[in-house]
Amino acid sequence: MANSFKIGDLEVLVLSDGTAKVPGTFYFAGTTKEQWDRHQRWQDHEGNVEFQFSSFIVSSNGRRVLVDTGLGDVQWGPMRGGALLGEMAAVGVEPEDIDVVFVTHLHFDHAGACVQAKGDQARPTFPNAVYRWSANENKFWTSEAAANDPVRDVFSQKNMLATLGERFEAAEDGDAIAPGVNVIATPGHTPGHTGAVLSSGTERAFILGDTIACPVQLEEPEWSGLGDMDPKLARKTQEAVASEIEASGALLATAHFPGLTFGRVLRGEGRRYWSPL
Ligand SMILES: [Zn+2]
Repeated sequence: MANSFKIGDLEVLVLSDGTAKVPGTFYFAGTTKEQWDRHQRWQDHEGNVEFQFSSFIVSSNGRRVLVDTGLGDVQWGPMRGGALLGEMAAVGVEPEDIDVVFVTHLHFDHAGACVQAKGDQARPTFPNAVYRWSANENKFWTSEAAANDPVRDVFSQKNMLATLGERFEAAEDGDAIAPGVNVIATPGHTPGHTGAVLSSGTERAFILGDTIACPVQLEEPEWSGLGDMDPKLARKTQEAVASEIEASGALLATAHFPGLTFGRVLRGEGRRYWSPL
């Protein structure tokens, strides 16, 4: 079920490609059950945290931008994906209707549905779209350094990039990918990680991929999750962007926060926290 939001004149649909449930103490290595006792609201009674694989369809002046594509048709460990195209069809959006696919970073749980297998061949899932992410991200995933990525057997960035060919166009900090939809550089989780900032009239909203993986990190800003490639830079980036969001009163959504919703960054008892709408 998609949730619908208005950010000024922009319309946003938040859809789920799937979910994963993992213990909080596993995803945030080094954290203890006692530490998690303070954060019951982000856990179920078994100590599991639910991670959504969210995608966002932003409609701006008749153009449709898809932000992140989820896992695609992948079941890997606790991760279950592949729901996105059905969820899109349920709200009347066909793959042909997407003008821009913007991917925050090239981890397989965000770029998973960019291309689809068709017999022996792969083809772009969104046939009329230009595909955009940062040049740094592209460079990293085609470099030797990426050859040791633990999920290379599940998803090949190189094969995806070969299939997309000239449909790829770099998107850098500040670029407008549609009217009122701009790129913000948020490096750390991956070298070229970016987010999208939506602005219309007096309203603003951030869609931040994995810059912040779980709302608990606003309360425990030093916690870094499993996928953070440069944890120190990731937390520095989080601090900068969370501080801006809190000060400006903008809305915040990320790929894996629960509930397919935006929320506000508020402060209580000296700590930031995420308050979903
Ligand atoms: Zn992710």
